[in-house]
Amino acid sequence: GKRWFCSWVCGCGGLAETAGDAFRQLSDKSLSAWKVERWVVHSVVVFVTLMTTAVIYSYLGNDSSKYWLTKSTFLIGVALLLTVIFVFAMIFKREQFQKDARYGAIGYFVIIMALIGFHLLSGEGNVFLFKSETLRKSYGFLIGSIFSGVIGTGFYPIFGNRVWCRFGCPMAAILGFQQRLFSKFRITTNGGQCISCGNCSTYCEMGIDVRAYAQKGENIVRSSCVGCGICSAVCPRGVLKLENGPLKGRIDGNEVLLGNDVDLMNLVNQNK
Ligand code: SF4
Ligand code: SF4
Repeated sequence: GKRWFCSWVCGCGGLAETAGDAFRQLSDKSLSAWKVERWVVHSVVVFVTLMTTAVIYSYLGNDSSKYWLTKSTFLIGVALLLTVIFVFAMIFKREQFQKDARYGAIGYFVIIMALIGFHLLSGEGNVFLFKSETLRKSYGFLIGSIFSGVIGTGFYPIFGNRVWCRFGCPMAAILGFQQRLFSKFRITTNGGQCISCGNCSTYCEMGIDVRAYAQKGENIVRSSCVGCGICSAVCPRGVLKLENGPLKGRIDGNEVLLGNDVDLMNLVNQNK
């Protein structure tokens, strides 16, 4: 899952866990914040895919005797790669996508249209209406310095320590797909034991309302979860557990065990 990168490798994650740790409780857990997060971070993925393509494209030429990879071959290659990924996801992972499949299709459509636009509207020294050199410099400054540097860390005291990871990081969004669709990682819950204290939600730096899942006895399989395990560490009732397990049945929660509804001794004896 995402744990290996966002919690162990990434420099921004390291900064969030150290300099930003005092702000972890400030991440907004509301449903509207979750909706905004999904829209923003997935739009960032579309934008970054296009910009990366545009920057590489700006280094290439049309003359096949000078360039082993020409502009048009490159664009066709990108379009084919994205089509293969899209078709694979729609055929094999359609169920997990649920209603998000529509947004995935919109994102794919926007990218393909933009690639056609690159092809039709770009010349030797420009991509769309922009000069290649200006495009590369502006992208580096606006995204590398302002967006990820100033906003990404300067907003810790307002939106919590993972504001960049939640709303701006394309790598986190891409790993989020991987986490949601292929990862074995999950936080399992035992709803019957939850006393709704809310410690887990308060400490979750990614703005996940862990308590809401725990109350329903649902496993937490969220694209944004970085697997830090803090929620399980702070739970006074041992409700949450950070686990790896088989993919099957990972999203469906266990049945909530409510003490009054079941004969607990029977259950214990069954599991012996
Ligand atoms: S492991 Fe728990 S605290 Fe950490 S991001 Fe995931 S849900 Fe939040
Ligand atoms: S910390 Fe544990 S007991 Fe408290 S709300 Fe979360 S899951 Fe329930």
